[in-house]
Formats: sequence, structure tokens, C-alpha cells
Amino acid sequence: MSKYRKDFPCYEHYPNLAYLDSAASSQKVACVLEAMTKTYTERYANVHRGIYHLSDIATGDFEAARVTVGKYFNANPDQIIFVRGATEAINLVATSFTQEFLQEGDEVIISRMEHHANIVPWYRLCHEKKAKLVVIECDAKGVLDMDAYRNAFNPKTKMVALTHISNVLGTINPAKEMIAIAKSHQVPILIDGAQAAAHIPVDISDLDPDFYTASAHKMYGPTGVGFLYVKKEHLKGMSPYQSGGNMIASVSFDDITYLEGPMRFEAGTPHIAGSIGFARACEYMMDVGMSYIQSHEQALLMYLQEQIETVDGLEVFGQAPNKIGIVSFAMKGVHPHDIASILDEDEVAVRAGHHCAMPLVKSMNQPALTRISLGLNNNERDIDQCIKSLKKVREIFSA
Ligand code: PLP
Repeated sequence: MSKYRKDFPCYEHYPNLAYLDSAASSQKVACVLEAMTKTYTERYANVHRGIYHLSDIATGDFEAARVTVGKYFNANPDQIIFVRGATEAINLVATSFTQEFLQEGDEVIISRMEHHANIVPWYRLCHEKKAKLVVIECDAKGVLDMDAYRNAFNPKTKMVALTHISNVLGTINPAKEMIAIAKSHQVPILIDGAQAAAHIPVDISDLDPDFYTASAHKMYGPTGVGFLYVKKEHLKGMSPYQSGGNMIASVSFDDITYLEGPMRFEAGTPHIAGSIGFARACEYMMDVGMSYIQSHEQALLMYLQEQIETVDGLEVFGQAPNKIGIVSFAMKGVHPHDIASILDEDEVAVRAGHHCAMPLVKSMNQPALTRISLGLNNNERDIDQCIKSLKKVREIFSA
């Protein structure tokens, strides 16, 4: 039994829910909701502009949130930009950074196992610049082909964007090695940490990427907020992404100067309460401890992998030796949408579809997959409930 399950108020409303879709978005912990309510009720005003007491408090809380997020990821808060989420962060890098230097014939490296968020912005940029998207494949187990990655570099390689953890396979990629290889070729690298941030320790100072991003809503925090870490040497030279208030030093009709640092990329009123909720989620996970989170989720993953073998006719995708609690599978003769609908009748919430990773799912010759994903809130009972329901699906479709 997860001793932290009680921290998730959703179970007060759905006591029998087996929520197995944290990879899409995690349920929220009470302290995050309390922190956000407190912001809106007791400590709210717009930030960075008011001279009065409440605005000072809100600005202090908002900037303290940046420090906490930096602490969670062991990164300098002056290099943490609050964004809407990983999707916006990657678009920001493609637009404000890579677009500035990418030329016809240049190459951008991504991998087969990317989420659409880390494919589409690069596809569009390459299309616009007549550059080439170079795709690193993974093997049948879902392990990234590191030799192919090493060999993919050439003088035309100008950018790398790779996921830390696959949202379909659960594979933990060797981020430190991937970054070191890119660095040895002097090519900037972005790591998409959307699936990593809540499940494994992420030490940005140790990894030393050029860019790193994650979304709060997959970390027991609110939707609509995430962060982009930017290496100092890039932060200064990058042009603004969006423009308006909050990001300027001075404006006249003849000349505009922009702020330096993260605020240059935070045009308009930010998600104030969201950023504070994000920081509270980081604090919560630091209190629980990443070693507990990892051992809890790994134990559940082993149990799930054992139990899923007892369901007939399943093919599991993603057998990397180093993976988080994500298990995607196909059931012979049954569409994943039917599986998910029947599971829903038994209060089991799983994701079915292409998981925003169409190139990967198609390469497995599957129209779609069903995915079970685990988090701190889960326990063995959730898995038992899911397996029982999957056996029912098998029976219905075998009849
Ligand atoms: N990258 C990965 C690996 C993801 O799993 C997701 C979301 O599922 C994203 C990026 C996009 O995150 P968001 O929708 O929060 O912007």
C-alpha cells in the first residue's frame, strides 16, 4: 500500500479508482491545491509590477517558486524560465534559438521514440529551412541505438533534441552520455524530461545539457505550467519568443530593449498560482524523497510485469532493462479503445491510442496501444484490478 495515497484527494471522490494514467497527467496532491488556493485567497496580485503589499508578496512567492524548481532539478534559478509546459519549451528553443542559425542542408537529430512535442517543432523548422531531420532508431526492446546516434554526427549536425524517457516504452535513455556526445561535437542538445521529472532524479548541473524541460502536470502539480532550463551562454543571445509586457526594459515607438534572464521569455502575466503550485509539488517530492519514489515505482513495475504475463494474447512493447513504470501493450484481435472502455467500466483508467508518438507506434505495426503508467499514488490493488479487468476483456473477445 502506498503510504502516500492519502495525499491524493481524488480517492476521496473515487475510492475504487485504479488511476493508471500518470504518464498522461498525474493526479494532484492536496498540498499543491492548498498552496494554489492560498495564493488566490490570501497572497494574490499580479507580479513584477505592483508597489503595494500584496503584489510584493505575490512577486516574492512567484520568484521563490523559481528557486524551488531550480533546487528540485539542481539548476540555477536564473536559468529557469516558466513556460506552459514541455511543448511550449521545445517550441521556444526551436523558434528563439535553433531558427536563428539553422540553414539549408543542416541536420537536426531526434529519435524514433520522441513525443510529437519533440518532433513537430523540429519537423516544421527543418521544413521551413530546407534542413534534414535525422532520426535515431531504437531496437525491438525499445533501447535507443547509441551507435547510430554516435555515428549520426557530421559537420552539418546543428541541433539534437532527445527524450530522457519514452512516454510509450518507459525506456530511460542515457541522458548524460547523450549530452556528452553532442558536446564533443559542439552541437547544442535539448533533453525532453517530461516523463523523467517525477520518476528519476534529474540533476541538471550534473547532466549539463543546453536545454532541459518538463511539465508540472506530470509531477503531481498543476496544468499550464512547466519550465525550460537554458544554459547561461545561450540565454543572453536568444531572441524573445513572445513579446509584450513583463519582458521589456524600455519601450518607445522607435526602440525597444528587452530584459535579460528568464523574464525575457515570460511575456505577459505568468501562471502565478500555477508556478507556486509547481514549486509545492517539487517540495512534496523532495519531502517524499526520490529514492522512495523510485523503489516504490520499481517494485510496482516488477509486479505489473509479472501479472501482465498471466493475461493471454498480450504483446508488451518496451522491454528495456532500464525503464520506469510504463507498460504498453496490444491484445490480439481487440482494439485498444475497446480495452480502455471496458476497463473504464471497472474503474480502471488507462490510456489508449497513439500516445502522441505516431512514428513509434506505427513502427511496431500497431494502429494504437494500451498503456498502463504508474506513479506514487498507485498500489498493488490497482494492478490487480487492472489485470482482472484485462482478463475479462480477453474472455469477452474470445467468446
Ligand atoms: N514529451 C513527452 C515525453 C511527453 O510524454 C509529453 C506529454 O505527454 C510531452 C513532451 C508534452 O508535454 P506537455 O503536453 O505537458 O507540453
